[in-house]
Amino acid sequence: MRRLLCLLTFASFAYPQQMDDEFARLVKEWTTRPEYISPLVDHLPKSSTVPSPKDVLGYYAGAPKHLTYYADMLKYYHALEQKSPRVKVIDIGKTDEGRECVIVFVGSDESIKNLETYREYLAQLADPRKLSDAQAREIIAKAKPIYHVMGGLHSAETGPSEMLMELAYRLATEDTPLIKKIRDNVIVTITPAAEPDGRDRYVDWYNKYKINDTSEEDQAPGPPYWGKYIFHDNNRDINYSQMTMKTLLDWYLKWHPPIMHELHESEPLMYTFSGQAPQNPTLDPILYGELPWFSNFEMEQMTKYGMPGVWTHAFVDMWAPGYLGFMSSNHNGMMRMYETFGNGGANTMHRRIDGGRGGGAPDGGRGGRGGGMTAREWYRPMPPPRETDWSQRNNTNYEETGVLTALQLTSAFPDIILENFYKKSRNSIESGKKDAPFGYVIPSDQADLTRVAQIVSILRIQGIEVGRATAEVKIKEGTFPAGSFVIKRDQPYGRLAKILLEKQNFPDPSLTTYDDTAWTMGLMSQAKVIESADHAVLDVPATLIDKFEPRGTVTGTGAFYAVLDNGSNNLVTLRYRLKDVAMRAVETSFKNGDQEIPAGSFIVDAKSYDRLKSTVEPLGLTAVALSAAPSASMHDVDLPRLAVYSTWGSTQEVGWVRYVLDHFEVPYDLIFKERVRQGNLRGAYDVIVIPNQGRGAKGLVYDIEPRPGKPPLAYTKTDQFKNLGMYGSSDDITGGMGLEGVVEFRKFVESGGVMVTLGTASAFPAEFGITRNVEAGRTTPQFYAPGPIVQAEILRPASPIFYGYTEKNIPVRWANGPLLTVPERDREKEVLMRFTGGEAGVLSGLMRGPNEIRARAAVVDVPVGDGRVVMFATNPVYRWQNFGEFNMLFNTVMHYNDLKPR
Ligand SMILES: [Zn+2]
Repeated sequence: MRRLLCLLTFASFAYPQQMDDEFARLVKEWTTRPEYISPLVDHLPKSSTVPSPKDVLGYYAGAPKHLTYYADMLKYYHALEQKSPRVKVIDIGKTDEGRECVIVFVGSDESIKNLETYREYLAQLADPRKLSDAQAREIIAKAKPIYHVMGGLHSAETGPSEMLMELAYRLATEDTPLIKKIRDNVIVTITPAAEPDGRDRYVDWYNKYKINDTSEEDQAPGPPYWGKYIFHDNNRDINYSQMTMKTLLDWYLKWHPPIMHELHESEPLMYTFSGQAPQNPTLDPILYGELPWFSNFEMEQMTKYGMPGVWTHAFVDMWAPGYLGFMSSNHNGMMRMYETFGNGGANTMHRRIDGGRGGGAPDGGRGGRGGGMTAREWYRPMPPPRETDWSQRNNTNYEETGVLTALQLTSAFPDIILENFYKKSRNSIESGKKDAPFGYVIPSDQADLTRVAQIVSILRIQGIEVGRATAEVKIKEGTFPAGSFVIKRDQPYGRLAKILLEKQNFPDPSLTTYDDTAWTMGLMSQAKVIESADHAVLDVPATLIDKFEPRGTVTGTGAFYAVLDNGSNNLVTLRYRLKDVAMRAVETSFKNGDQEIPAGSFIVDAKSYDRLKSTVEPLGLTAVALSAAPSASMHDVDLPRLAVYSTWGSTQEVGWVRYVLDHFEVPYDLIFKERVRQGNLRGAYDVIVIPNQGRGAKGLVYDIEPRPGKPPLAYTKTDQFKNLGMYGSSDDITGGMGLEGVVEFRKFVESGGVMVTLGTASAFPAEFGITRNVEAGRTTPQFYAPGPIVQAEILRPASPIFYGYTEKNIPVRWANGPLLTVPERDREKEVLMRFTGGEAGVLSGLMRGPNEIRARAAVVDVPVGDGRVVMFATNPVYRWQNFGEFNMLFNTVMHYNDLKPR
């Protein structure tokens, strides 16, 4: 049957070019079953001029036990570029660790020669405000779609980066009609590894520990880090905090590829995304037609080639807009995604598909269909076998066949792809003119403009136009001063503006979703953002701005200055930049003439005026001279010796806390079990923060399972493995801090230390008896709340933790932390903030069972011995997202020795 298909596909011509016999022989050998390959990839041209991956690297893509370091990938693509007029490599910026980010263009000689012209065509279609329909048709007739493919976003998913080198070579050299047509009608662009830093770290770790893994049950765990700060969350970095991700977005907004395709590994044998429920109703309906158009074609073609296990319509939806490739669908293009089966490296392994690891996605796939992988369904017409040997070459075959099939479809309908891209861009503008909300206003008279600036900056990074009103804004929602920020919806990315700024109304509470249900920027920043249903907002005169950097001010002369605490996150930066300047915090607000000086404001002696001024101004803060020494009670703002505790097995959310502390210039030691077990924590630290991490308290203590009889898992830098031992090092990452560690933490607190636990880590002091009076419970199995924004009530506003917060009720992100219970007698003293709960307490997104959190503690401050434990059931540092909550952590740090109850 398969042979017949090959004949049908290729009978009409003989290969006009020489093929690489060794390739055909080895690939056949490495492919574990004859049906795991297709006629598209069972051969490779042999060129006398253009180097294949083997010519440069010494091995073919998908070869067992070979993974390529990033520098070698670049070496290959540059070699290809040098010898082929059909390839061009451009640098687009640096990664977080300083590696070069590149884009590889592959197309016909003509396309590569005229890239700038094709870039310009796509830019015109992306912003069609200056085009008539007739002009757009003319451009579509001349333009070519860019189809962008990226591998290696998730470092343990190693196959795609290998495959892409072969794909580039094939596209540049093969002369079959299929490839010629792709080359002529489509410009293919490639991100060789979307997380280059993590790629190198993973390849080091693989070569050191995983290269001898033989079975799925007995594998070495992965390395403690991929990228500098985070793992999978590089695909959830909604606000583009990580340099590597932002670099790609900058490139995207210049080149406008109508399709961006992410290649992942987890599901057997190949899953192709088609846009499942819940749909985001703001996204263009055309998109939800395009996605199954592609995925069904792939499923049909690959099934025809006899490849089992190709399926669609399961997990991952487009509700949350933060996946990396969604930069395309967010900007009127199309995001595509595959999951192929992977072994976490290049080893061939026996894999069980039903009942084995293949049942779900290791990268967190949940929701939608997906169970019963081997059942025949309408979305999986030819299921995979129940168990199979699986190799990296199988993976290469599936991915490359899939991508070539998607490119085949694109090359057959380039005009449709371009027309859709144009139409979706046009629709976004038109929707803003006829569907409320018509725009958003961010008033410029808010006390803290630094969080406003944060919102504006994120919108601008996304290419969204932001204007400043040139006169007072009068709309039915109110009157706002000149200088207020206006985001009009009748712009190409007006739909994205709405998605980011609106309250998320989850469409169907019976549905699950893959990531967060809420991200409303105004709520997350605790800044005022006005949604306008008034058509007049579109006519507000406003000047478009590139960026907004509020300049701070120091006014008046006096013996003392007060730096106002209006809730800016930059206040902590000021304190650390001027760490040798004595500062006191006022404990209650007071009047200085007409000026209200809020609680938490810093009082600084005039002798430091020059340094204060030069620090306040760039940070966008406000300082005023005081007419007299303040009579309010005050305390010294002295800074603690700060540590952040990390397990080895769950470093990602610690990474977000590290990122935020680094960003705001708060110095700290990152400590692991090795340091905790040494003891005398109190001699070295005043405050230890334990971020949300792992699977609850037991995971925090025991962490990675020890491996009796096996060599230790050292994470250390060596001459051979230079990417290991970064951000901490260990002679053996297994075993956790154990009960000895718990004892050390207890001694730390009892001897006067402050332990701060965030999110799930707050179960640790409760369950291990450090805070004996606090119980940590869980919600029921019926409860479901993927990251909604809920209301919390501040019960003890005088606590320094709430300096800068002026409202009694504030929005916080639900963090799935423990349900903390404090005995009645201690409640009034110790519970500082609680969730209000109930439906009315859900401000954005979905919470099923909101009564379960009614009046449950959100922040608890428990004295223990001479020290204290501050437990957050919230997560005050959630990714680079809940800017309005960061200050609760910063305040805890800055006022660590003045948290006493009042
Ligand atoms: Zn992945």
